[in-house]
Amino acid sequence: MYHELLLPGQAPAQVGPGPRPYLLPLASFRAQMRTVRALGFRGVSVTDALAFSGQPSVCVTFDDGYASDWVAAAEVLYELGFGATFYVTTGRIGTPGYVSRADVRALCRSGFEIGCHTATHPWLTQVPGAQLAREIAGSRAFLADVLGRQVRHFACPGGRYNARVLAAVTAAGYESCVNSDRHSNGPETSRFALGRVAVTADIRLPEFAEICQRRALWRRELVDRLRGAVKGVIETHLPVAAWAA
Ligand SMILES: [Zn+2]
Repeated sequence: MYHELLLPGQAPAQVGPGPRPYLLPLASFRAQMRTVRALGFRGVSVTDALAFSGQPSVCVTFDDGYASDWVAAAEVLYELGFGATFYVTTGRIGTPGYVSRADVRALCRSGFEIGCHTATHPWLTQVPGAQLAREIAGSRAFLADVLGRQVRHFACPGGRYNARVLAAVTAAGYESCVNSDRHSNGPETSRFALGRVAVTADIRLPEFAEICQRRALWRRELVDRLRGAVKGVIETHLPVAAWAA
């Protein structure tokens, strides 16, 4: 699971203070995709992954619809002959830092898969009924109109989901739903509970290679838990004024 790629000399769409773990240098992404190939895997879309062809493959996905999807990621993938699925947040299409309608169409024409990542990127577990339909079904219809073809796959913002969200995803006609639960997927995995591994900027190539081979996921889990624990301590014990600064 990727997000935005950082291009040399260009300001990213993700701004603000604090660490941005999901912002990954383009060179790192290129090195990772070459590692996928060196390991004997092929990068594939969600549709291709769900076919479980028996070919060694790593499913590559991008969330949010950053401009770097088309101007950076697509070229790296294309050169290697890899597929991928780009989950686009429809309300951000055409806004600064994000893909335009033309970009989304170009990605699709180039053979990449376009999935949906809601209209406004809320945490769906907190969204009331009518809005839930707009976020999940409405965005699918919008994207189908832009592309001129059906949109088959959905990604939950922030990886947040529950039974109510998944019922809405199913009712909207999607064929799968990915989250951010860190596990590999097999034919036995529910198509509406597909796990993913966030490839954050702190992951070095050896660890990335291990993750592609379904190893070292426990170590990532531990790092995240420790990070969460530290964050909890800071939020609990730091005075509000200091936190705001
Ligand atoms: Zn997102």
